[in-house]
Amino acid sequence: MWTTLATLATATLPLTACSAPSTPRPPAAPATTPAKKQPPPTLAPGPQGRTPVFRNAPRTRATPADAPTVALTFDADMTADQGPRAAAGERFDNPALVDTLRRLKVPSTFFMTGRWAEEYPAQARAIGGDPLFEVANHSYSHYAFTRDCYGLPTVPAHAMRTDVERAFAAFREAGVEHPLPYFRFPGGCYDDRALRALAPAGVTAVQWDVVGGDAFATDPDAVARQVLDGVRPGSVVVLHCTRSAAPATERAVRTIVPKLRERGFRFVRVSEQIAATRTPRAARPADPGGTPDRPEQAATARN
Ligand SMILES: [Zn+2]
Repeated sequence: MWTTLATLATATLPLTACSAPSTPRPPAAPATTPAKKQPPPTLAPGPQGRTPVFRNAPRTRATPADAPTVALTFDADMTADQGPRAAAGERFDNPALVDTLRRLKVPSTFFMTGRWAEEYPAQARAIGGDPLFEVANHSYSHYAFTRDCYGLPTVPAHAMRTDVERAFAAFREAGVEHPLPYFRFPGGCYDDRALRALAPAGVTAVQWDVVGGDAFATDPDAVARQVLDGVRPGSVVVLHCTRSAAPATERAVRTIVPKLRERGFRFVRVSEQIAATRTPRAARPADPGGTPDRPEQAATARN
């Protein structure tokens, strides 16, 4: 079964998780103060200094008048060995999606691979420089950080931190000035070994609670339905900014955004959700639904 998966995966490397936060700033802050002076919100390290994992914001709001939040995240996937495919004309970017997010004014977080930023430096710089967006780290190589992750090639433990730092270097090289210290594991695959290996990198790992299902999907309505069915207050939705492997995403977003706004949701970047997670619990009254007032932080191993 392993062999089969691995064989399949060499042809179509799985898409999972790419997007990045940009400049840390309160949503209503005027542009008069240089926001870069404020350190971006992060989670405290887990046990023995392990990389903390963020999955979703609190299900409750700071005050009853606040709108429930949702964060759309877009993984800009390009794997280290996909250069020849890009050279042959395959498009791993999705400018129409970025345009739509701007037109609809949707704050969003892009988890970008370093290889993607190398291939599309102008786009990486434009996304990173847009106050609507955040750029965060989705590894350099888009190789797996566990031994068993959709057949992706594996990053050895001793090279994990280097792979993450190489992506930050690629962002700098492309002109992305303030990538956020958030990291999304390729394939969403991590374990205790990976959380320990990345501890010195000082990143907060960002997972999700809603899978958009846009990877290799061709029906935008199905993607929209899956997102709309899954979103709850505080949700983090994983989608993709990679045209060749997620061709329906832009059209799905055109449905998802107005529908969630009709339901009263406010779109936020991941940094705002992480900041909300750190708000003292006493400041937030419980919602009538009685859902847990804590994000699901997986400080322990998965897989
Ligand atoms: Zn990915």
